[in-house]
Amino acid sequence: SCYYSIKTNLNMIKTDAVIIGAGPVGLFAVHQLGIAGLKAEVIDNLDKAGGQCIELYPDKPIYDIPAIPVCTGEELTKNLLKQIEPFKTNFHFNERVQEVSSKNNKWVVKTNKNKTFISPNIIIAGGVGSFEPRKLSLKEAEKHEGKSIFYSVNDKSKFKGKKISIFGGGDSALDWALELSKISNVTLIHRRDEFRGASNTLNEIKKLEKTGKLTMKTKYQLSAIEGDKNIESITIKNDEEKKIKIETDYILSFFGLIMKLGPIAEWGLNMDKKNISINTENFETNKKGIFAIGDICTYPGKLRLILSGFHEAALASVECFKRARPNEKYKFQFTTSSKEIQERLGYKPK
Ligand code: FAD
Repeated sequence: SCYYSIKTNLNMIKTDAVIIGAGPVGLFAVHQLGIAGLKAEVIDNLDKAGGQCIELYPDKPIYDIPAIPVCTGEELTKNLLKQIEPFKTNFHFNERVQEVSSKNNKWVVKTNKNKTFISPNIIIAGGVGSFEPRKLSLKEAEKHEGKSIFYSVNDKSKFKGKKISIFGGGDSALDWALELSKISNVTLIHRRDEFRGASNTLNEIKKLEKTGKLTMKTKYQLSAIEGDKNIESITIKNDEEKKIKIETDYILSFFGLIMKLGPIAEWGLNMDKKNISINTENFETNKKGIFAIGDICTYPGKLRLILSGFHEAALASVECFKRARPNEKYKFQFTTSSKEIQERLGYKPK
């Protein structure tokens, strides 16, 4: 319909390169494109930048980033973001790239939130695939997902004054149990006695439990959900098959993340197991204008290191330039001596 086509046009974003994945390598690709004068849009399924560095090891020290003797995953991410600040890049978080197709010599990229991008270049910096929450295995859980069952919290006000059952033993479960106990009636349920999350948070929670402001059930797992449209209660059980019914409005489940290659496998790219094959001249895949860099790409001798990804981003961006500016000649320039680059970075040329 007419309304639909207008709406779709409004959602259409034109850019020089679409970067899939805001991990360290996707972030550095923004820089390499940026200094060449190209604009990028970055899409990530996570709610923030940093990929594995921020999701799997924010506090761990990394020792092999050139010229940085030591920095944590979080520090590296912050510095990469700082380095690309001048380019004012748009990030599209909480969106998974679903479809890639071609139209008039350009690539059309669609996300699961119905955003559409048009670009001569796609750089896939998807790492080991998109991070997705590990879901509750109970069959009934599916129909309540996004209504009464959540795997992340965007807006906590919805839980105010409600009965919340929180599952999990890691930091997310503990942090949200503590936070929501201020406004909701919280039951924290974990299948083990030991928690993986920070011990000081756990101590806070145990204090709250003693004063009756929160309930804890350990060695229990979800066994049933009662209620049709909305959840009314849940049943949990322990190893001895002892069952307890708990009145519940919302379930929050934090069982960690799994990595899924997901839709990337269906775009007609040459794959080698779970990786994308590229040529090492410009990191282009078997499709012109689609590049793969970082952990997701493979070639003889590939090392899955951040520093390799940085080099791969540099080479891919040269080819992206040639495709985005077919009438201009690519100039190799040092940042130390290029006024053009210094201006793009917001530094006054000397
Ligand atoms: P990732 O960091 O995996 O980021 C990819 C991003 O793409 C993710 O955020 C994902 O959500 C997103 N994505 C994927 N598919 C889609 C899609 N369809 N739509 C939207 N978004 C999508 N490397 C080192 O060099 N030195 C070290 O010391 C080191 N230590 C490590 C320690 C640990 C515990 C781990 C797990 C890894 C370590 N690594 C180290 C490896 C390093 O983290 C990876 O090489 C690096 O993160 C790869 O970066 P990337 O940007 O290619 O991918």
